[in-house]
Amino acid sequence: MFLINFAQQIKCIMENIFGFAGTALVITGYIPQIYHLIKEHCSEGLSIKAYLLWCVSSLLFLVHSFIIGDIVFQFVQLISLISSVIIVIYCRKFKDHYCVYHLNKIKEANQKG
Ligand SMILES: [Zn+2]
Repeated sequence: MFLINFAQQIKCIMENIFGFAGTALVITGYIPQIYHLIKEHCSEGLSIKAYLLWCVSSLLFLVHSFIIGDIVFQFVQLISLISSVIIVIYCRKFKDHYCVYHLNKIKEANQKG
């Protein structure tokens, strides 16, 4: 009995470690995009349609996570939804705006043909 409870506790701890590590990576992935978008007013390489799909997807997964009662899944989907909404809003606001770096890249690509 003690070994079963101990094994269940270890399994629960491992699930949370992997879940929160995955969540940290999701946050790490969104931060540079959001930072560049807001700080540089540059929407280069960001697709509004793709992020709208991510919003819907995150919302559906968020509902699912509440139904199954998975707190890590709820947290990561909430982060994903908020990040995607921020990206969509600022992509619309800064549509066709580019930072100096990306503007030069676009000019270089156009000169090459
Ligand atoms: Zn840029």
